[in-house]
Amino acid sequence: MTIRKEKVAHIKNDLLARRNTLASELRKSHAELINDEEFLFSDSVDQASADTGKSLVVQIKNRNHIVLAEIDQALKRIELGIFGECERCGDEISEARMKAYPSTTLCIQCKTETEAEALRYPKKI
Ligand SMILES: [Zn+2]
Repeated sequence: MTIRKEKVAHIKNDLLARRNTLASELRKSHAELINDEEFLFSDSVDQASADTGKSLVVQIKNRNHIVLAEIDQALKRIELGIFGECERCGDEISEARMKAYPSTTLCIQCKTETEAEALRYPKKI
């Protein structure tokens, strides 16, 4: 089953726009992180609050990195022409689902089923 080309093109544009935003946010948070480090060494009294702020920046940065990787994966799948196709049953994955989880390779039904299986047979990570 192949998914409509216009739909993929639309999602691809959406992903590219999100990718740009994330990339610039990452550059920004990286700059903030460097500033925070200078601040940390300059004043030890405020270190605790600076640490909190820093770890938050790191968290956001890590999160953005994950999303960025997911978007890259999705873009690769678009290139390969397998984007939007469930790798388990071959059905088309809904557009809303692909936008919310661009890296998904399972339709909602298979995802629910695999999650139920994972709960029954927990894998060691
Ligand atoms: Zn499926």
